[in-house]
Amino acid sequence: MKIVLASSNEHKVREINEIVAGSGLEFVLPPKGFDPVEDGKTFEENSLIKAKAAWELSKTWTLADDSGLCVDALDGKPGIYSARYAETPEKRIERVLREMQGVEDRAAHFACCMTLINPDGEVEYAFTGKCEGSIITESRGTNGFGYDPIFLVKGSTRTMAELSEDEKNEISHRSVALRQVLDYISKNLVTSS
Ligand code: IMP
Repeated sequence: MKIVLASSNEHKVREINEIVAGSGLEFVLPPKGFDPVEDGKTFEENSLIKAKAAWELSKTWTLADDSGLCVDALDGKPGIYSARYAETPEKRIERVLREMQGVEDRAAHFACCMTLINPDGEVEYAFTGKCEGSIITESRGTNGFGYDPIFLVKGSTRTMAELSEDEKNEISHRSVALRQVLDYISKNLVTSS
């Protein structure tokens, strides 16, 4: 069963396909023209906006993922602004580290909301996932993407960027949400089309 993933981030599509490998599902990028205005106030709202925009172009099963880093001491920021917190991934990390200078409470989590839309354009379900950790003071590791190098995984001595792809896929906010999607699909939908 092919599902359009409402994202233009190829890394995300690859990561998600690795998580679902062997399940009979395959995620593909949306048709050309996918460029929604993510002006929601929550991950849930933005996920729905993206899912609807991709469905408008594809009129088939569509899954949207909206995710980001939420830092307790920054009142949940960068949150829904994670992808736009500064111009480049490096600058976004620099900004978070700058804003966290001298801050004792370093607790943070990655959050993810996934919205599944059926071929009739109706929302089938919304799923959420979370991964707890904390913000370190200097980048470490080269795997993954985004804020992975400054996110120390709870209960581990490694940052998300020091984990292998398989290790990240075991615990990430996206895999927590995606496992629920897989469970929902296998219990409620035919997966052979
Ligand atoms: P989205 O593509 O609109 O959901 O934006 C998500 C943004 O949050 C990304 O561009 C990253 O900056 C950040 N983000 C989401 N998931 C991860 C992750 O697994 N690792 C590191 N950063 C992430």
